[in-house]
Amino acid sequence: MTRREIFAGNWKMYKTSAEADALVRELVAGLDKKPGREYVIFPPFPYIRDVSAICSGTLFRTGSQNLYHEKQGAFTGEVSPLMVKDCGCSFALIGHSERRHIFHETDSDVNKKVRAALDAGLEPMVCVGELLEEREKGETAKILNRQIRDGLAGFSAQDFARITIAYEPVWAIGTGKVATPEMADEAHGIIRNILKDTAGAGIAENMPVLYGGSVKPDNIDGLYRMDNIDGVLVGGASLESASFLKIINV
Ligand code: PEP
Repeated sequence: MTRREIFAGNWKMYKTSAEADALVRELVAGLDKKPGREYVIFPPFPYIRDVSAICSGTLFRTGSQNLYHEKQGAFTGEVSPLMVKDCGCSFALIGHSERRHIFHETDSDVNKKVRAALDAGLEPMVCVGELLEEREKGETAKILNRQIRDGLAGFSAQDFARITIAYEPVWAIGTGKVATPEMADEAHGIIRNILKDTAGAGIAENMPVLYGGSVKPDNIDGLYRMDNIDGVLVGGASLESASFLKIINV
């Protein structure tokens, strides 16, 4: 079975507009177009429209790093799925560990956001992953099970066909501690088994599952070789064109 392969960069809350402009132009110029591969950039909200315009007609697409689950209304400071779609996004990152742990987003929030993103015509990229203490207590499977069962409850086969999962162990994000390719592959296998149980074998087999957590040019080879890893979601190393290009051109 050949699944979609997706290489994504999350710029978090970094870059000025001039830096964002320069970075995306360097990425477009330096990309080695590998057949079938998809590329996504998640810029901060204020730069989405400009970055999307530069990406138009290239293999890069854009996504928002978050969104609110309502279409519109008196929700000061929030951004709706329709707004990010209108600014050129194709994807929405949902449930990133920084959203879960700094902003206390729950699996129920994730579920509402995934529904809202799908309804707006966006592809949700849903982040899941355990804390270090949960891994040390042997609770990785339990946590992934809860995040997937609750976060993705109530979706149809057509919905699942537009959802991507990013496994991002929280202890590996921005810490320089990457999961070994074997650890990541094993967790991706657990995710596929949970999906098989909750959504069916076909969905489990077809769902792209990306790895994220301190992916760098010097560890991409090993991760990319694993059967269950269908691409990567990169934070820190996506902020410079040289390092991100080494990863996405692997
Ligand atoms: C992320 O922000 O999703 C991420 C994986 O960050 P980093 O690559 O810096 O660990």
